[in-house]
Amino acid sequence: TAAAMSAATLEATGDKSTDDDDKEDRAAQSLLNKLIRSNLVKNTNQVEVLQKDPSSPLYSVRSFEELRLKPQLLQGVYSMGFNRPSKIQETALPMMLAEPPQNLIAQSQSGTGKTAAFVLAMLSHVDPSKKYPQCLCVSPTYELALQTGKVIEQMGQYYSEVKLVYAIRGNKMPKGTKLQEQIVIGTPGTVLDWCGKFKFFDPKKIRVFVLDEADVMIDTQGHQDQSIRIQRMLPQSCQMLLFSATFEESVWKFAKRIVPDPNIIKLKREEETLDTIKQYYVLCNSREEKFQALCNIYGAITIAQAIIFCHTRKTAGWLAGELSRENHQVAVLSGEMQVEQRAAVIERFRDGKEKVLVTTNVCARGIDVEQVSVVINFDLPVDKDGNPDNETYLHRIGRTGRFGKRGLAINMVGNTNMNILKKIQEHFNKKIEKLDTDDLDEIE
Ligand code: ADP
Repeated sequence: TAAAMSAATLEATGDKSTDDDDKEDRAAQSLLNKLIRSNLVKNTNQVEVLQKDPSSPLYSVRSFEELRLKPQLLQGVYSMGFNRPSKIQETALPMMLAEPPQNLIAQSQSGTGKTAAFVLAMLSHVDPSKKYPQCLCVSPTYELALQTGKVIEQMGQYYSEVKLVYAIRGNKMPKGTKLQEQIVIGTPGTVLDWCGKFKFFDPKKIRVFVLDEADVMIDTQGHQDQSIRIQRMLPQSCQMLLFSATFEESVWKFAKRIVPDPNIIKLKREEETLDTIKQYYVLCNSREEKFQALCNIYGAITIAQAIIFCHTRKTAGWLAGELSRENHQVAVLSGEMQVEQRAAVIERFRDGKEKVLVTTNVCARGIDVEQVSVVINFDLPVDKDGNPDNETYLHRIGRTGRFGKRGLAINMVGNTNMNILKKIQEHFNKKIEKLDTDDLDEIE
């Protein structure tokens, strides 16, 4: 596949920039992440574990065999190309599969194997001979529920007695329906209707409850209350599992209301660094000057692939047009595009079909910058008050892991923005050198 995913991942990080695409919601970011992700995200950090009962031994597994999964499930796991558990799975799986069942709150950035882990737990706990819902998974949106459903179907492909049903808007059931499927996956509102109002299934028979993407969930009005109402209908003995990519205070509070006596697993996201990045700036006082500088850079050095960040959609559109006129193959990502369209653009770029990607801020978080040799800030990242947005700067050009390839970052800065550049330089305590685009020998 196109390069191991690692660096710039998509989840909302509390971005403060004024970019007009920034109103983008977390659910869309999360979906985009899932659509373009084809591999585990690298993470060299250690998982932190907080056990409900610290005296009980902590198991972690290095292989799927150790989990003594049903053969049909082990086959499913291997058919997905998984050789061994991911970092988070090493600890989470034994906890989730323990007898008696353990409750769990797990947090790690997207792409670290949470979904695969809870899907395996649900499939393991199902009794296929019983024809009623036993596992319930709630997701923040219709599209996210479908993505998780796909993983259940894939992993359960050799376990055909187990059936799945989607409790999502638009999936209308006749009155009086009694569901036969063992797994229900859906959004909070519809799930609540199905078990409360319509009694399509009996919540008291649910043995595993999964609340996925808790951070996205609480972003949506009403979802928090609905989730809590669902949780209250479940039996005491039901295993409660909650997952989140981020863990701000609000998520934490919510998690504790949903999951009593939890074990807690956290995997810190890998820090990005600027250590392997050569940073330059070019002085230009208009977008035309910036474009000219860009042409000079392209004329002087060989650039395999570059991402160019603009502050607004308008600039991005204009720049893409200018670059096309210069016969560059340009891809554009912009906020008004559908998530699926964006995923397609990112995939084409990752496959090398285009060499330049022009984008505004939010859209590009899912792109693995390690394969991109040059990142250009056509506009510096600033927050809505015009202050430097260091976090976004790091996100755009930083690399994770000690073995990240060397990269080149070029900032286009006007006289009026020099103070922002200086602040970014001071913040990271790394020199950003001046580049004279009429004499580019030094960066070769
Ligand atoms: P998350 O839910 O944390 O975002 P996923 O479970 O969706 O992570 O996993 C991210 C990607 O890694 C998916 O493409 C998934 O198929 C793959 N993956 C998950 N677990 C493993 C594993 N143990 N080995 C290899 N790939 C895995």
